[in-house]
Amino acid sequence: MTAARVVVIGAGLAGLTAADTLQQQGVDVTVLEARDRVGGRTHGVEVAPGSFADAGAAYLGERHTSLHRLLGRLGLKTTPTTTAGASRFAFPDLSEQSGRFPPLNAVALGDLFDRLDDLTRRVRPEQPWASPDAETLDAETAADWAERNLRHPDARRFFPLFLGEMMAADPAAVSVLHMAFYLRSGGGLNYLNAFEGGAQADRVDGGAHQICVQLAAGLDVRLGTSVDAVHQGQDTVTVHSGDTAWAADAVIVAIPPLLADAIDWQPGLPAPRAGTRTAPGSAVKVHLVYPSPLWRAHGLSGWSVSERGPLLSTVDDSPADGSVGVLTGFVTGAEAHRYAALPFAAQRAEATEQAAALFPQLPAPIAVHVTDWVTDPHSRGCYAALLGPGDWIRNGPHLTRPHGRVHWAGTETSTEFFGLMEGAIRSGHRAAAEVIHPY
Ligand SMILES: Cc1cc2nc3c(=O)[nH]c(=O)nc-3n(C[C@H](O)[C@H](O)[C@H](O)COP(=O)(O)OP(=O)(O)OC[C@H]3O[C@@H](n4cnc5c(N)ncnc54)[C@H](O)[C@@H]3O)c2cc1C
Repeated sequence: MTAARVVVIGAGLAGLTAADTLQQQGVDVTVLEARDRVGGRTHGVEVAPGSFADAGAAYLGERHTSLHRLLGRLGLKTTPTTTAGASRFAFPDLSEQSGRFPPLNAVALGDLFDRLDDLTRRVRPEQPWASPDAETLDAETAADWAERNLRHPDARRFFPLFLGEMMAADPAAVSVLHMAFYLRSGGGLNYLNAFEGGAQADRVDGGAHQICVQLAAGLDVRLGTSVDAVHQGQDTVTVHSGDTAWAADAVIVAIPPLLADAIDWQPGLPAPRAGTRTAPGSAVKVHLVYPSPLWRAHGLSGWSVSERGPLLSTVDDSPADGSVGVLTGFVTGAEAHRYAALPFAAQRAEATEQAAALFPQLPAPIAVHVTDWVTDPHSRGCYAALLGPGDWIRNGPHLTRPHGRVHWAGTETSTEFFGLMEGAIRSGHRAAAEVIHPY
């Protein structure tokens, strides 16, 4: 029997997609959200009056078909990621050249990508834990793999930067299986890594946060409601937040795995949602605001890659009308942990100093915004949770298997575009379909 009343936990893209799909089918849905805003890992920071930059997810590509359909339905447009002009590199000496790869040994980087591509092809994306070499690939970290396989110093120098940019991961935090799966799930190395024609081709004009804001407007969403217990009886399931409780026929849990494990489950889960080595991804985003995209007049794209932090890469994220200039700096991996622990004044000083060294043509930014996802208690995993050795083998088979009346959504439950907005939306559709057509 189709559920008549459903509670969704989490008002990110996954939870709101699921709730919206169910409501369209006539189901009575309530969404419970811990934060005082919707959107989860999509979030807009106001960089100028009425102008927002993406503090969370930003980039999308043409293969993100569910996201594109949703944007179309909501009347939201995309704008191309700006890449025209020369890039700046600090390895450690400053240099300038076209393209997005640093001036390192091209053969060494080619060899690195060939090896990663080989690993990627060995993974069964729909069931990574059942890949032919799963046990072996899930036995060691990406750092151990690099130590054994990367001979050329330039490949060793570039690998952590690459993984930081792609996955917000320190190589020591992820298993080889997770790294290979992530790259495969996102469309392969070339697609995931590319601006033009790839997964980073476009941004949502005005900010990706608008998707959730618009979806939530038509739904019953309770903000500031952190779920702490889910108890199932014979005929119903009850969701608790402090002293308040909601009864339902089914629940969709659309929160990151490390947070799902903090909930009191009765009966208990057959397996924890996160593995023993699962770590939160580590990303801090820094927005440097200028009166306009001044670097363009100097023939620069705003893209930079640095060997040393905090800003390991920067990209031009100015709004489409160029009314204000925004350089987004990515602080990822181990560096994100160091930077996140600094007071704001020190974060601003380090970021401004590095921007001045990278782009001496530019004046000091008129504002600096720092969004720290590392210590954010409501995300614990950005861009997404990082699965360490053994996690996929142990937890993979439980990823989407319902627990009685409890169904699982969230980007970490999607084997397609895991960790991305597209994965979150696809997971929401899947979970809603499970509730509407229980098997
Ligand atoms: C800095 C950064 C950059 C990124 N870049 C990109 C990108 O360029 N492209 C891309 O596609 N993706 C990107 N991502 C990833 C993308 O944002 C996520 O994959 C996606 O938004 C996840 O959606 P979700 O609904 O699964 O989870 P979330 O967005 O995390 O939503 C879960 C919600 O549940 C709430 N919650 C948690 N615990 C509870 C509880 N106990 N009770 C009630 N509510 C709870 C949270 O507050 C949150 O709102 C990025 C993420 C970050 C942080």
